Amino acid sequence: MDINRNPGIHDLWFLPLGGCGEIGMNLNLIGHNSEWLMVDCGINITSSALPGAQPLIEIPYTDFVDKQKSGLQGILITHAHEDHFGALSLLWRRWQCPVFGTAFTLSVIRRKALMRGLAPPDLMVETKFGDKTQHGSFSVTWHPMTHSTPENCALEITTSAGTIFHSSDWKVDKSPQIGKSFRPKRFASIGERGVDAFICDSTNAQDTGFSASEGDIVPGVKRIFANEMGRIIVGCFSSNIARINTIAKIAVNSGRFVGLLGRSLSVMVECAKERGFLDSSINWVDAEHIGYLPKNEVLIFATGSQGEHGAALSKLATDSHRSVSLDTGDVVIFSSSVIPGNEFVVKSLFRKLEELGAKVLHPGNTDETLHVSGHPCENDLRQMYELIKPKIVIPVHGEKGHLDANANIAQSCGISDVLKGTNGDLFCIRPKPAIIRRFIKIGRLPLPEFRKNS
Ligand SMILES: [Zn+2]
Ligand SMILES: [Zn+2]
Repeated sequence: MDINRNPGIHDLWFLPLGGCGEIGMNLNLIGHNSEWLMVDCGINITSSALPGAQPLIEIPYTDFVDKQKSGLQGILITHAHEDHFGALSLLWRRWQCPVFGTAFTLSVIRRKALMRGLAPPDLMVETKFGDKTQHGSFSVTWHPMTHSTPENCALEITTSAGTIFHSSDWKVDKSPQIGKSFRPKRFASIGERGVDAFICDSTNAQDTGFSASEGDIVPGVKRIFANEMGRIIVGCFSSNIARINTIAKIAVNSGRFVGLLGRSLSVMVECAKERGFLDSSINWVDAEHIGYLPKNEVLIFATGSQGEHGAALSKLATDSHRSVSLDTGDVVIFSSSVIPGNEFVVKSLFRKLEELGAKVLHPGNTDETLHVSGHPCENDLRQMYELIKPKIVIPVHGEKGHLDANANIAQSCGISDVLKGTNGDLFCIRPKPAIIRRFIKIGRLPLPEFRKNS
């Protein structure tokens, strides 16, 4: 095959520029009939182990998209996680192509761009669950998919050459706390319509059983709230609105007001309020006032559970926050996992908080369920493969070990065509399954270098 040619009318291609062979920085292209569709446009963020250093932000190298921009029919953003949308406001002006996403996702894109002093994309089109959108020769159905942020969408992408089901990040969640629970019937009907290739999240493929439900954190958090008399500070991912709502509701029942420390939490909570996701009984209190309240009446959500320098938890740990000073009797709950690469910084954060007299609870030192992942384990994957019955599986959203584990699961479910590759490889789905290795040049640019060159 001439690798310089565009996809023809009989071709259906998948081309990852980021997120395949790594966790983070997802940017996928789907090619058909000389046209391209972009799914997600994310960044990679790693906390630095150097004291005081800012997190490293990386942006995918998009020379190929820049050259193909006249064929680009749409940019679809699956959900409001930065590894899926974070590069959009930095790159969009090069392509000027309409961006599609749900109301919550678009609201987060808009507010996060403004928070960083960037202009959000000018052309944004809101989609709803069940919508069908047309982008050149691609027809897309937006399906609700349970994950760890609201309004996450899986995409059924149909062309005259075949159909791709792009899972986005997902897990089977029967009690997601916000939004509807996982509906097997919806996915069974996608399977009945016929799926040529299933592009599937591999993050937790090495873990057996089912992924735990968002609802599983409720009993443990309730027990902690019943026993603690000091301030309760919770570090969690700002985008996990269900988590924030669940814990804030428990706080209401134990007579606590709820404060937010950190800009990204305030932004996400604003977006969630706008969509009506947060319980009306929650007693929100301004950050400036929270230091004056009796300690047993306080719940604080704080940014920086990955040890990010300058975030609220790191300021609390160095006793340099202007609103709150931690004390003996206060408890800091990490309702989050440690993103690989951040282990050292997070451990040092735990130590500093303990040195101030605070009790630190994290998934590694308590039997209570403080955090659940938003990604599929082995049984989630098996269930989905049985529902979707794809001809081909393409494992993505994972490092090599995760992709291999997902591939093995797919094969053991009787799917013989599993295309395993990495960023820059071209996955030919139709007319015949094949991979062309290193089809395009890929890479990543640290944010300062990106700014210098753009
Ligand atoms: Zn992701
Ligand atoms: Zn995600």
